[in-house]
Amino acid sequence: SESDTADEAVRGTCDDASICKRFAVSVGYWKDPYMQYFVRQAKERKAPEINRGYYARVQGVSQLLCAFLKKTECNCQIIKLGAGLDTTFWRLKDENLLPKKYFEVDFPAIVSRKLHNIKSKPPLSKPIMETHNGDSLLIDAYSLDSARYSILGADLRNLKDMEEKLKKVGMDPQLPTLLVAECVLVYMSPEKSASLLKWAGDTFPTAMFVNYEQVNMADRFGQIMIENLQRRQCNLAGVEACQSLQSQMDRLLSNGWEAADAWDMIRVYSSLPQNDVARIEKLEFLDERELLEQLLLHYCISWGTKDSLHLGLAEITF
Ligand code: SAM
Repeated sequence: SESDTADEAVRGTCDDASICKRFAVSVGYWKDPYMQYFVRQAKERKAPEINRGYYARVQGVSQLLCAFLKKTECNCQIIKLGAGLDTTFWRLKDENLLPKKYFEVDFPAIVSRKLHNIKSKPPLSKPIMETHNGDSLLIDAYSLDSARYSILGADLRNLKDMEEKLKKVGMDPQLPTLLVAECVLVYMSPEKSASLLKWAGDTFPTAMFVNYEQVNMADRFGQIMIENLQRRQCNLAGVEACQSLQSQMDRLLSNGWEAADAWDMIRVYSSLPQNDVARIEKLEFLDERELLEQLLLHYCISWGTKDSLHLGLAEITF
């Protein structure tokens, strides 16, 4: 059916993201020794502005995540929504920054691919075994459950089913919880993404929601971005919510979040540690600074907090 085709195209976006990340890693933008076990090296070079855009995205999300781990002293859980082939679990383990439990949700088809790679590649499975105590680790075609890491096949538009699955593997609503959606909400209708935000806001009294996605989509450059994705039959059902930084904040505030902020990626990029930015800017010659700025202007990180334990979550920023 039409909607199956659209879902299939959305699932394809997870390869794109991972292939671009792997390419940027191979050039030296940041370190990730695990991505290579999930996707092949890109056949062609990616343009320098694309690599810098991914750098800003990965570093930006990672900064807020680290700030949350610091505030909670890792006494928390992280739920990555639409995680795709994300490798954050392994990086946090290497840095000794694992939360009590790290959960991921994506479509069953993506999860089964991810699990296949984990099962067949010791550099991926070993760290999971190392963090797993005693009892036998549960792994089937569509889910993995270990002491510190769970990967679940579920549809983010079916909240009841997702919540049940999360609870079964030990999700604890009372624990400070970080939810991260990286290029995910834009593929869901505004009603469905609002329900997801509201579910998260209602379920976790002490929590932060971090969202990375498109913004400022009403102008000419935004229209071209939309057309490019539509050409690949991706259903950008959620693009309406990506009109402005204000609409990103409003969506959080009207769905149960106490405080919210939203920064475009130009602002995020210029707030990242500038010695590292100087390092990556020497990696590749960038012909068109203008193009990079246009790209960065059309993506943003928005975040919302709720803080019944008074941990100071609303202070988290770049
Ligand atoms: N977050 C990952 C990253 O940044 O590398 C993947 C991003 S990819 C652009 C979008 C991901 O969201 C895909 O893996 C897709 O399968 C997942 N996704 C989109 N809609 C979903 C839904 N309704 N339920 C579960 N997963 C979904």
